[in-house]
Amino acid sequence: MSKLKEKLYKELELKVFTGVEGLNFDPHIFKHLDLGGKYQEEIHCLFEMDSESHVGTHFPVGFYSPLGLTFGARWNRKSPYSLVYENGKFHLTHKGQELFPIDEFIKRPNYYGLKTSDGTPMSNIALHATEGVVFIAYSNDCALKDKGQDCKYCNINATKDTYADHEGIAWKNPKQIGEAVAAAYREGNRHLTISGGFVPERREIEYYFDVADAIREHTGLDDFNGTACVGAPLDLSVIDKYKEAGYRTIATNIEIWDKNIFKAICPGKEQQCGGWDHWVKALEYEAQVFGQGRVRSNIVAGIEPKQSTLEGVEYLASKGVIGFVTSWCPNPGSDLEGHRSPEPAWHFDLFKKVAGIFRKNGFTYNQIYDAYAAPNTAIHDIYRIEDELLPVFQNKAA
Ligand code: SF4
Repeated sequence: MSKLKEKLYKELELKVFTGVEGLNFDPHIFKHLDLGGKYQEEIHCLFEMDSESHVGTHFPVGFYSPLGLTFGARWNRKSPYSLVYENGKFHLTHKGQELFPIDEFIKRPNYYGLKTSDGTPMSNIALHATEGVVFIAYSNDCALKDKGQDCKYCNINATKDTYADHEGIAWKNPKQIGEAVAAAYREGNRHLTISGGFVPERREIEYYFDVADAIREHTGLDDFNGTACVGAPLDLSVIDKYKEAGYRTIATNIEIWDKNIFKAICPGKEQQCGGWDHWVKALEYEAQVFGQGRVRSNIVAGIEPKQSTLEGVEYLASKGVIGFVTSWCPNPGSDLEGHRSPEPAWHFDLFKKVAGIFRKNGFTYNQIYDAYAAPNTAIHDIYRIEDELLPVFQNKAA
């Protein structure tokens, strides 16, 4: 491995560690940052990922490492990693020791300063996930909560209850989405995901079709590179309709591979969607309709044993499904608030193994980019390092 790749993997390890542990900082330090002007502020969408709520105080979405990896800024006052502001500059430190100075935070896209024709800020409609990716949560609550069947790690309803009044969290209509996506795409963004919690009666299907129509109308694009993130439908023929509606990819998140743990952690997904077996059947069917590498699932990593997660990723890959993993960060307002995720090294090892499975099964960088809602996971970074896709590879002297 080249020296540059070794250095990048060291930075990636640090990114995973700070992602799992979070960052300790005094929220007041961001008065030194042009948040909401030059730099992109965090806007709450589906889930509060910080370890505690911070109503009325904005944080940056993230910053860059010296070699160009994107780090998130997940707040956790108990973390040994800190973001500090000293001598006119931000720094990342570990137990008081400097790791690196931060030269650049993530810039705010221009469309965040625009409004839809009904006067809604586009920043509330289409979240900028960086690297050309836009994320839209059409609804910010989940009907499973009313049945007492919401997923134990999930805080979607608590997030809405906490931030709705302060950050204007509300349902988005297709026209708003079409206008915001068109503005975002005019700036060079090129992939989007539509997602949300369960709605009563599973009425999301018509909504997804109307949204696809609106996006096509406002962008003028037939293929707008969209992912429809949906629960497993009881009637699998519905999946064909998502393809006909114009979505390039589809995502159905199984969350837990072990059948019994799935039942306990995701009672609504078990009881409303025909159970774990049907969930897997839906993913296999989606791969037949959308094609190899055009279907994504996600596992919340750290709730079940690593071996079980890896078996799931292997099995899904053998069926053409990209089985992503994301580190479980026990969230405020979820039933598992106060629990702990495995050690950061556990997660880093898992990411490397999952990237290995993806590559062995022939998934390309473009496929994982198109299928996932966030473009800066550790798995994306492993591809960028191995395939030398980062700008730093243009400057070999780095
Ligand atoms: S289905 Fe589960 S993970 Fe998805 S929003 Fe509802 S409770 Fe959360």
